[in-house]
Amino acid sequence: MTADAAALYQQRILDHGRRPRNRRALAGASEARRDNPLCGDRLTVYARLDGDVIVEAAFEGDGCAIAIASASMMTALVAGRTREDVGRLDAAFERLVTVGVPAAELGELEAFAGIRAFPVRRKCATLAWEALRAALG
Ligand code: ZN
Repeated sequence: MTADAAALYQQRILDHGRRPRNRRALAGASEARRDNPLCGDRLTVYARLDGDVIVEAAFEGDGCAIAIASASMMTALVAGRTREDVGRLDAAFERLVTVGVPAAELGELEAFAGIRAFPVRRKCATLAWEALRAALG
């Protein structure tokens, strides 16, 4: 990754961290909360399902810019996707943050590729996905 690309990715994470999308409760939706005691991140993720499709996703909680930005980007990405799609995206994100395998289907979430160099922050990035997985049961 070039220094310019790294700076751009950093900027996207900070932008979503400061002005997160989909930060609200969804009444009547499936929900699950996950905490990351190492950093103090606490996220509740909501998913409204219509059959097998996640028609809307949102989150509430507090945390570092990485945790909030990941939840913000993830809730935008998974809206309109099937459970199967989300399982694939979840696995792709895991590969991105652990070994740095890029995946265009992750969209803005590719900004987290640099996290693999900071193993203690990985949990911040994956917390929203863990909560979503739990919410989808
Ligand atoms: Zn964190």
